[in-house]
Amino acid sequence: MIPTFEASSYSMTPFVDARNFIGGQWVDASTSQTVAVLNPRHGEPIANVQMSGASDVDAAVKAASTAFEDWKLWPLRERAHVMYRARELMTRHIEELSWLVSHENGKIFSEAKAEVEKGIECVEYGCSLPNVAAGNQLEVSRGVSCEVVYAPLGVVAGVVPFNFPFMVPLWMLPQALVGGNTFVLKPSEQVPLSALRMAQIFEEAGLPKGVLNLVQGGRETVEALCDHPGIEAMAFVGSTRVAKLVYGRAATSGKRALCLGGAKNHLIVVPDADLQLTADNVVASYTGCAGQRCMAASVLVAVGEVQPIIDEIAKRSASMKIGEHIGPITNAPSVERIRNYIDQAEKAGAKVLVDGRGQSATSGGYWVGPTLLDGVTPDMPAAAEEIFGPVLSILRVDNLDQAIALENKNPYGNASSVYTTSGDVARRVMNEVEAGMCGVNIGVPVPREPFGFGGWNDSKFGHGNITGWDGYRFWTRPRKITSKWALQTDHNWMS
Ligand code: NAD
Repeated sequence: MIPTFEASSYSMTPFVDARNFIGGQWVDASTSQTVAVLNPRHGEPIANVQMSGASDVDAAVKAASTAFEDWKLWPLRERAHVMYRARELMTRHIEELSWLVSHENGKIFSEAKAEVEKGIECVEYGCSLPNVAAGNQLEVSRGVSCEVVYAPLGVVAGVVPFNFPFMVPLWMLPQALVGGNTFVLKPSEQVPLSALRMAQIFEEAGLPKGVLNLVQGGRETVEALCDHPGIEAMAFVGSTRVAKLVYGRAATSGKRALCLGGAKNHLIVVPDADLQLTADNVVASYTGCAGQRCMAASVLVAVGEVQPIIDEIAKRSASMKIGEHIGPITNAPSVERIRNYIDQAEKAGAKVLVDGRGQSATSGGYWVGPTLLDGVTPDMPAAAEEIFGPVLSILRVDNLDQAIALENKNPYGNASSVYTTSGDVARRVMNEVEAGMCGVNIGVPVPREPFGFGGWNDSKFGHGNITGWDGYRFWTRPRKITSKWALQTDHNWMS
């Protein structure tokens, strides 16, 4: 039994160690290896996480495989009813769940609450599946009907990153579970605690034992999941480097795979953009969750004369209070990495308009404040690589053609936005940028349910989107049934 999390402020609050949840039991991993789960605001451990090996993965797959035999027989509507009850429990515990996300991940409370709300929205999509997942049926020839039904795959798995410990698992679980699969989830070892409460909530909601299993761990655990012959499909969300590895390894063992990777999102600002809206929105996009979002703005492409907008962005960035308006960075190595990008850009000639280096809200935590770099050139690492921190690189171009060309040169393709009051400019950018999720006057263009979430190019390996209807299709396989009940005398080639 996982206790409720007691915190109702940012004060250090310990929680239980993250163990495995297999076949409805909380069990220790077979290895004795553990890693501390650090609260990034304080830099102190709130729990430990056990690091599982191949035998733990095998135990989880066996439990999931046993549970599948009954779960697959439940009518889809009854499986969806578990989602209804889980949604109610999550809503009832929203404050507690938000504090737990905030403590293990570091994001400020309002951002943590928004994450939990978005997770609940994904559960609501699962609740809606009985209304949208009916297959098709047609009389294809006289007396002959064809129908399609979506059958589960079996045991499936998901691997998730540190930046959305509550929401990203819920990109996967509702469609996979309502679709009739049983699941092995590997949370990020940096933030394994929200998943404990989530598993507990699903159990309280009536999910049978073994339908959802947790295996805690890191690389070794993920490799064991990729290689396990009993897992039919795998979804991954994390960095591009690991997404590519997991995609290749999972596919080699015959799995269906969908792996979402990193990003380098460009915001294009043209002179006719609304000053207040643009400044507000750009700052929210690059500083939200301390820039640790795959949808965060990373490059601002300034087209022509947009200096007043840049001045306003700088003013707003400089006025943000660290610890209150912007949370900490996930860990010390990440702070080091982000600072290096800023140092390198400055050395190469970029101007640091707003400097987040050296800012901190606590003595032990991991911090970088909002940082605005001007005069960045495409060859600088700050322009080309994912920084994953609250740093916005401004690149200046003369016209829209150059802006679109610059955007399209970067290998990622998660998100891209334009700020303009011209329908023509908006339309051109939306038609021509190489990104899967695009925005007009919006800096975090997340497709909300029921629209599917997923980028292009180096931001995603595999077909389709992770959420919405594509998610349901990823976790199911269409069975085509052709029937002829009446005895027909007029034979045709189908008879
Ligand atoms: P990460 O790739 O380091 O880790 C993700 C998961 O992979 C974790 O569960 C981790 O334990 C596991 N892992 C780490 N190294 C591994 C290895 N060598 N082999 C196998 N598994 C391994 O990512 P992160 O730091 O947790 O998350 C941040 C990254 O995730 C950023 O790049 C961000 O853009 C990306 N992200 C992308 C999306 C998206 O939708 N495209 C969403 C959220 C985060």
